[in-house]
Amino acid sequence: NYVQTCGLCETICNLNNVATHDCLRGYFNYTTDENLYFYPLLDDGVTIVRRSLVQGSEVIATVPLQSNNIVFIQCTYIIDSNNIQPTLNTGQKKEKLSLEEEGTLILEVQCRQPLWNFRLPLAQRNNKITKCLWQEASNAINGKLNAIGCKNKFKNFHDIYRRLINSEKLPNGSASKSNIYKWRHAKIMEFLRDSCLQKR
Ligand SMILES: [Zn+2]
Repeated sequence: NYVQTCGLCETICNLNNVATHDCLRGYFNYTTDENLYFYPLLDDGVTIVRRSLVQGSEVIATVPLQSNNIVFIQCTYIIDSNNIQPTLNTGQKKEKLSLEEEGTLILEVQCRQPLWNFRLPLAQRNNKITKCLWQEASNAINGKLNAIGCKNKFKNFHDIYRRLINSEKLPNGSASKSNIYKWRHAKIMEFLRDSCLQKR
């Protein structure tokens, strides 16, 4: 029973339905202001789409996000519900990803922060959201692994990377520091370095 209002069409949406609201279609993020109005946020992270008065008539315009009147900013991934395909838990063939597909999977996960950034508020990475995002990752590799397969695969990469990072801290770390880059995905996994070094 927590609702927000669309800043473009004034529709009142249940919080769970905000990300799938029609006005946000095609955008990756949105922001919510202190009056609980939400607006599409452009990829630059500082421009919102809202109604503006231009020469006496109201138009849809892009305006800079003004941090002094927007107290509460929530950047949330918008889930394209058309992207969700039913996943079969059984009958999934054991597919092996090519090196290129593995790289694609990692990059797709990287641009979906809720899948790995545990500092984001839980509301932005709840089960419903992450389930959709893993499905999108699966779509990006043409469904060669399903959503659960992608999740497991990435967890595997994350574990390997965490081990490599932690081995850097050992006394003989200077030797292993160069070792880490022998792992084929070490470089594109760099975005996880901070979270791997943090104790949760
Ligand atoms: Zn709307």
